[in-house]
Amino acid sequence: MTGSRETYGSTPTDAADTSADLIVVGLGAMGAAVAYHAQRLGISVIGLDRHNPPHQFGSTQAETRITRLAVGEGPQYLPFVRRSHQLWQDLEQVCDTPLLLQSGGLIVTEQEPVVGQRWEDFVTATGRVADGAGIDFSVLSPPEVERLCPRLRGYEDKKVGYEPTAGLVMAERAVAVQLQRAAASGATINTYETVLAVTPGPAGVEVITDRARYQADHVVLAAGPWMSELIASEHATMLSVTRQVVYWFEVDDLEATGTDVMPFVMWVGDTDEQYVGIFPTPPGATPGLKILGEQFLETTDPHSVDRVVSAEEVERFHSQLVVPKMSGVQPRCVKTAVCLYTNTPDDHFIVDHGLDSDRVIMMSPCSGHGFKHSAALGEAVAETIATGRSSLDLSPFRLDRLL
Ligand SMILES: Cc1cc2nc3c(=O)[nH]c(=O)nc-3n(C[C@H](O)[C@H](O)[C@H](O)COP(=O)(O)OP(=O)(O)OC[C@H]3O[C@@H](n4cnc5c(N)ncnc54)[C@H](O)[C@@H]3O)c2cc1C
Repeated sequence: MTGSRETYGSTPTDAADTSADLIVVGLGAMGAAVAYHAQRLGISVIGLDRHNPPHQFGSTQAETRITRLAVGEGPQYLPFVRRSHQLWQDLEQVCDTPLLLQSGGLIVTEQEPVVGQRWEDFVTATGRVADGAGIDFSVLSPPEVERLCPRLRGYEDKKVGYEPTAGLVMAERAVAVQLQRAAASGATINTYETVLAVTPGPAGVEVITDRARYQADHVVLAAGPWMSELIASEHATMLSVTRQVVYWFEVDDLEATGTDVMPFVMWVGDTDEQYVGIFPTPPGATPGLKILGEQFLETTDPHSVDRVVSAEEVERFHSQLVVPKMSGVQPRCVKTAVCLYTNTPDDHFIVDHGLDSDRVIMMSPCSGHGFKHSAALGEAVAETIATGRSSLDLSPFRLDRLL
């Protein structure tokens, strides 16, 4: 694959490798995008990661992510997802590898708004964003849903919206490609190196790891679910990390669930724990239908999270949430993954200065919906470091809204 991980990952060998304009801490979805765009803008970069991204321990595993131009989470996200699509298409050309697959996407909700839900009345909210921006999005009749996704069940009394321009991003591949491109343009990318302390001073920022001591003009903290270990405690307490499980179930006809024939389905139930995301299968991906749920009732952390998915969990998820919504999905699970959400109190992103310093930017834009915006967020943060301002407006993600 283009962007193989063999093309990056090193350890410091001399003093030249321990200082840079920018140190990026954490090279998942957000950090890889920052490193790639910063290096592209002529900023020298050292990227540090405790694992070897893309890896299975944070928030960016499980191959694919849903992307939608009509972002029901709010119009402030629209410029980021739009720009991200463009950036991934540009990267596809450079790297000759598919990153963005336009499968179309269905959103299913109750007919009436369910009060107290994280994203209340998501089809209506999505339609509002679409209308304001001229994005093709329509509420479908049951026969129209049947035509698009004949295996879907139980939607006849629900509200179902459809965006043809929605699809999937090859998330792990996008991380690998951006790191490979950053390294090819001169970034130092050090894997299996854990940052222990980040200390801003008047002349720069010192970063101490389990291997070396570094100095940079700027630091971006993009540590995903580990973020609370690196930021001020009053900010760390705002973040809550939850365990999410992804399942790949055997299906009776894999070709009928390909990205070329099936849209993704986001089924927003009447409680958060009734949510189901159904992902069509891209060419060459794990041969099974990827389906996930959500839970926010139990918090955890990346060190103590239970990474084993029990047979009981598989059985319960399949019988309670899959069978009522999709036909032809067998109980046998070919693969599972445990992935971590990091949520803020209002479920929106934080991209702002941290550690009381203009030299440090923290990016904790996960909350279960961050990947689709990651390329443009990375570019905007890189621009901010290069020029003091960004083409896209990062102000909706400021910390002071939560203080
Ligand atoms: C199950 C699941 C489904 C999702 N579905 C969608 C979706 O469909 N669409 C969408 O847009 N978004 C989705 N999201 C959200 C999206 O995946 C995340 O917003 C995004 O992946 C977060 O990336 P990140 O870079 O913040 O974190 P990560 O990818 O976890 O990266 C953090 C990195 O920091 C490194 N690190 C941590 N601490 C240190 C340290 N001290 N020193 C060095 N390195 C360190 C880690 O090793 C890791 O590589 C989903 C998330 C999950 C979990």
